[in-house]
Amino acid sequence: MKIPFLNLKRENERYAAKIKEAVSRVIDSGWYISGEEKEKFEKEFAAYCGVNHCIGVGNGLDSIRLILMGYMDQGTIQKGDEVILPANTFIATALAVSQCGLVPVLADCDNRTYNIESQSVKEKITSRTKAIIAVHLYGQVAAMNELKQIATQYNLKLIEDAAQAHGATHQGKKTGSLADAAAFSFYPVKNLGTLGDAGAVTTDDKKLADIIRSLSNYGSGKKYIHQYKGINSRLDEIQAAILSVKLKQLDEENQKRKELASYFSRNIKNENIILPYNKEPTSHVFHLYVIRTKERDRLQSYLETKGIFTQIHYPLAIHKQPAYSELKDLKLPVAEQLQDEVLSLPFYISLTEDEKTRITKALNSY
Ligand SMILES: *Cc1c(COP(=O)(O)O)cnc(C)c1O
Repeated sequence: MKIPFLNLKRENERYAAKIKEAVSRVIDSGWYISGEEKEKFEKEFAAYCGVNHCIGVGNGLDSIRLILMGYMDQGTIQKGDEVILPANTFIATALAVSQCGLVPVLADCDNRTYNIESQSVKEKITSRTKAIIAVHLYGQVAAMNELKQIATQYNLKLIEDAAQAHGATHQGKKTGSLADAAAFSFYPVKNLGTLGDAGAVTTDDKKLADIIRSLSNYGSGKKYIHQYKGINSRLDEIQAAILSVKLKQLDEENQKRKELASYFSRNIKNENIILPYNKEPTSHVFHLYVIRTKERDRLQSYLETKGIFTQIHYPLAIHKQPAYSELKDLKLPVAEQLQDEVLSLPFYISLTEDEKTRITKALNSY
């Protein structure tokens, strides 16, 4: 029996009845965009994160773009300004910056947490730097205390890319509330995932929230009056209704993820394999369980012969991606090492005891 990297059908089965009920309610309501379900979820998610404002948007990429666009419309950030982000992240973090006419500046990663490294951030600051995007990679909160200190010292905006870390906490506070603004994705595989594309921005900054709300709806507050050159990126009613169902279980699901991670970390015993680092204050909700090893591709093939399917997040650091060939000569040694060594195991809470045992046994016999 094969163990796929992810089994979303099985993962969503425990929600199926409630999701069908929620979707039926929306179908019967006759209202599909910008209605009560969106408003309800925004309130719930803002309260969950511990912030005053949440704006539901079309996807995670747009949630980052809209934050930057919001600052640009306020004049806080201008075309051509620089935004620092980690070299080891999903491409969306960099694309959002590029698509706003801003310059992505890559910092290297911490060798234990794989998150953006504070000293490298400092070294990248110039007179054009206006913001830092901290990605909570794989579900682990970035070094927010250090980053906040840097942001304050250099008068930079600090933005969370929390697309992989819904519900993770840092000194008791949830992601989404740890910086000036935060971006979330609810893509189906995320810790809080819906059945389509969706995202959100959270912030305590009312002015920014008002602008983003308008920007996400064609720059319009009042119908057919357009204040800004906005985009169309709205959380639809069906996704909002599904997200309200799943948000109720998020803490419980994250708890189960932590237990599964601790199972793997206790039972994987192989000196060629480095396990995920997980110590306070950078708390971890294990969006992914990422191990590291020298001959990664060989391990991946070995696991495949045992019917265990893994993935690589990410096989190329941003500056090694063809889309960013202009950055290819940058030297970011940790990010470059990670792209060759990381391996994400099948990791979902509906894994059976037998599947868990098979995965650990296969790793221990490698
Ligand atoms: C998933 C993800 C995004 C983008 O989200 P989409 O909803 O797919 O646009 C952005 N950043 C990170 C770190 C992600 O993992």
